Amino acid sequence: DELLSDKVAVITGGSSGIGRTIAKTFAEEGADIVVADVREDAREGGPPTHELISEETDSEATYVDCDVTEPDDLEASVEAAERYGGIDIMVNNAGIFRGEDFLDVSEREYDQLMDVNVKGVFFGAQAAAKRMVANGGGSIINLSSVAGLEGTGEYVTYCTSKGAVRLMTYALADKLGPEGVRVNAIHPGVIETAMTTDDVAIVGTEEGEMYEQMIPSRRFGTPTDVANGALYLASDLADYVTGESLVLDGGLTNT
Ligand code: NAD
Repeated sequence: DELLSDKVAVITGGSSGIGRTIAKTFAEEGADIVVADVREDAREGGPPTHELISEETDSEATYVDCDVTEPDDLEASVEAAERYGGIDIMVNNAGIFRGEDFLDVSEREYDQLMDVNVKGVFFGAQAAAKRMVANGGGSIINLSSVAGLEGTGEYVTYCTSKGAVRLMTYALADKLGPEGVRVNAIHPGVIETAMTTDDVAIVGTEEGEMYEQMIPSRRFGTPTDVANGALYLASDLADYVTGESLVLDGGLTNT
C-alpha cells in the first residue's frame, strides 16, 4: 500500500535538491503536492518538479511562487493545498547556506540567512498549523542540519540558524501535540545537491574526499536518503514520533 495515499503535502524549496526529491518521493507514495519556491526550475536542471510528478507518478502537483521570508506567501502556499483537499504535511525545507567568516559577517548577510532559514520555517509552521489544528492533525517536518547539533566555527551564522530550527521544532511539538500535529526535525549531513557543489565546494573536492573518509558510511548522502527519512516522519508509521531529531548523516555526528 502507498504510505501517503489521500495526503496533501506542501514543500518549500521543492524545486531543487532535497525538497525536489522529497516532493517526488511523497508523490510516488500517493500524496498530492504543492511545490512552494522562489524559482520554478531546478537548480541542478531538469523539468520543474510539478511537471516531473505529473509525468512520472499518478499524483497531482502544482507550483506556487513563494518566498518563505514573506508570511503571506506561505499562507498562500498552504491555501493552494485546498484544491487537493487541504494540507496534511508541511515540509519546511527551503534554506540557504553561506560560509562567511564570523568576524566579517555583516548585519545584512545575517538577516538574509536568518530570514530564510529561521523566519521562513517559523511562519511556514504557523501557516500549516492553523489549517492542521482546524482539520484535526498533521505532520510538520523542518530541515535543520548536523550544523544544528554541533557548533562549527567555519559557518557560525548557518549553525545559529539551524540550532534555532531544532529548538523551534521541540517547542512546536509541545505546543501542537495535543492538537494532533506532530513536529519533527531532520538533520542531514553532507548531501549531494547544488548547495554542496556550488554554494560551498565540498562534493567533488579533495577536501571533500578526506571528509568522506570520516563518515562511517564512507559516502556523502543523496537527496533520496533524506527523502526516505522524511517519508517515515510524514507517514502514519511515525504516529508516536514528535519532537524528534532524525539525524541522516551516515553516522558522522555520533562517531
Ligand atoms: P538547494 O539549494 O539545492 O535547494 C534549495 C531550494 O530552496 C531551491 O530550489 C531554492 O530556490 C529554494 N529557496 C531558497 N530560498 C528560498 C526562499 N526564500 N523561498 C523559497 N524557496 C527558497 O539546497 P538543498 O541542499 O536541497 O537544501 C535543502 C535544505 O536542506 C536546506 O534547508 C538546507 O539548509 C538543508 N540541508 C542541506 C544539506 C546539504 O548537504 N545539501 C545538509 C544539511 C541541511
